[in-house]
Amino acid sequence: MKVCVSVCERNLEALWSTCERATEWADFIELRLDCLDETLEKLSEFDRPVILTFRPSEQGGHRDLTLEERQCFWNSTAPHGETIWWDVEGDLVHDLNPDWSRVIVSHHDFNGVPKDLEQIYERLASSPAAVIKISVQANDILDCLPIFQLLDRARSEGREVIAIAMANAGIATRVLGPSRGSFLTYGALDDQNATAPGQINVRQLRSLYHVDTIDHETMICGLVGLPVMHSVSPLIHNTAFVEEGINGVYLPFEVHDASQFFKHMVHPRTRELSWNLRGLSITAPHKQTVMECLDWIEPDAKEIGAVNTVVVENDRLLGYNTDAAGFIDPLLKRFKTLHGARVAIIGAGGAARAAIWALKKQQAAVTLFARNPAKAQPLAELFGISCTSLSDASFAHYDLVINATPLGSGAHIDQSPATREQLTGARCVYDLIYNPRDTRLLREANKAGCETLDGLEMLVAQAGLQFELWTGKSFSERISKLITDSTS
Ligand code: NAP
Repeated sequence: MKVCVSVCERNLEALWSTCERATEWADFIELRLDCLDETLEKLSEFDRPVILTFRPSEQGGHRDLTLEERQCFWNSTAPHGETIWWDVEGDLVHDLNPDWSRVIVSHHDFNGVPKDLEQIYERLASSPAAVIKISVQANDILDCLPIFQLLDRARSEGREVIAIAMANAGIATRVLGPSRGSFLTYGALDDQNATAPGQINVRQLRSLYHVDTIDHETMICGLVGLPVMHSVSPLIHNTAFVEEGINGVYLPFEVHDASQFFKHMVHPRTRELSWNLRGLSITAPHKQTVMECLDWIEPDAKEIGAVNTVVVENDRLLGYNTDAAGFIDPLLKRFKTLHGARVAIIGAGGAARAAIWALKKQQAAVTLFARNPAKAQPLAELFGISCTSLSDASFAHYDLVINATPLGSGAHIDQSPATREQLTGARCVYDLIYNPRDTRLLREANKAGCETLDGLEMLVAQAGLQFELWTGKSFSERISKLITDSTS
């Protein structure tokens, strides 16, 4: 297993200092010499292999370079040495005469997957270079498929290849690529220094996704949603895999069209990828659309009308909802009973749906508050509860006020669905948002003298139930605490 950290600096001093930091994590260091304004003459200071690149802008480089300039660089300026690899573009192959055993011949496409991907591979494979690199832009998660297929082909033909789908939709190829034969995978030294779209921070590659230990036996799970990159679910499940000693990995899958993803990559009877996929968490906006892709759905999830967990069982897909139990668990730990409790739910999306169902089971008296009551009305009717407008609402007489909107997180971090004045008189405020834990709503609630509860406990509880469905093991108290501490 090899991880290569890519270093792009403008001057030599910064280059050496970044390289020093990179050696802590990298097996290979890629020096992006097209970023450098100074000339690099020798490389004697290195104690591990380096890959030199001098990319023109049309191949993702940092400067405009003619073919002649690139030929001149590789033929007269580029350092040589036993631990020095050259990564050269395919159009240079006939103009150079290097030690081909340390050459990567590469092709980059920053627009998408080229139609002639196979031909590009064949052209590069006909060169004497030791390794072929093909890196394409993933505009959709399905763009990972040709990359995985290319890795399979190269393996069967005995060729060393690096194949990557760039961007968030391609992250699976960066994490799983090496276990499927990719010669190496690239990481960024930190989040600010990625040199290609979707390049993961090397610490995450190694200590969150554990790329070094992923193999053909590894159980693969992941989160399906849009967006997904903000999620702490990879931290939760990957921590649990390690703590339980399970050979598993949990990835973010950025999916636009869930039915296409399920057809081509998930369902064992139709997928075009052989992988050890065991389970999926489903988040917005796919909790309802995935239901039509499944072979069986547990009765509770059917009643709720949303699935947040999928289990791949032999050639069948089974759907569950762990949001409802995860939601109610923290409440039942605090309050002996919710029977007859007056509960206000703000928001009418997937989380509200599971919360209303769980509260109705506990015989609470639920009222739905929505910014658009007409739109929320069908949900209220489905569960036989009343629905009212959020604007100018007063929560004074409620035992429990629940936020099931995104207000307080992400782009809405400074917003709150209710003010201190609106909350005064309410007993407890439960914000389903977990990132950040201390939301503006909870600060308003504190000022109004209400008890407060954040969304992290729910997140861990629903994740624990998912983990049990996939692995048969539940989160121990120690794991729950470890996860809570590391996500706080
Ligand atoms: P969703 O399906 O997209 O629903 C969001 C709801 O919020 C919709 O009813 C939407 O109203 C409403 N909303 C959006 N912006 C609003 C605004 N500016 N003012 C008033 N209402 C607004 O999302 P979801 O899956 O239900 O998730 C909702 C929140 O719960 C998210 O923040 C999520 O992170 C959190 N959550 C937490 C957990 C956990 O484990 N702690 C689990 C699931 C969800 P319209 O219908 O009018 O668009």
